[in-house]
Amino acid sequence: MDDQRMNLLALIPIEAKDRIGMEHVPYTPHAGSGRIPCEKCGVGCWIGPRQTTMKVNNPDIPTLCMICVFKECQKQKESGEEVTASVISLGGA
Ligand SMILES: [Zn+2]
Repeated sequence: MDDQRMNLLALIPIEAKDRIGMEHVPYTPHAGSGRIPCEKCGVGCWIGPRQTTMKVNNPDIPTLCMICVFKECQKQKESGEEVTASVISLGGA
């Protein structure tokens, strides 16, 4: 491993309903974006011009939707140390 960065392309799903947790965040794809399915779950995603170039130059780089990227990160965390998620309401009584 000579590269510390996570070698994958995180893509934005085309359908808002697939942007779990960000369904209501407007997203406009970059001009010249193409469409590519997520390698894991097959959901249709936008791939920007720079990402396309990266993929062409590095055909082995995984192209995953942001949801799968998130899951991958979670898995890595879990395989390392356990992350305890706790939700604390700060709204007051
Ligand atoms: Zn996916």
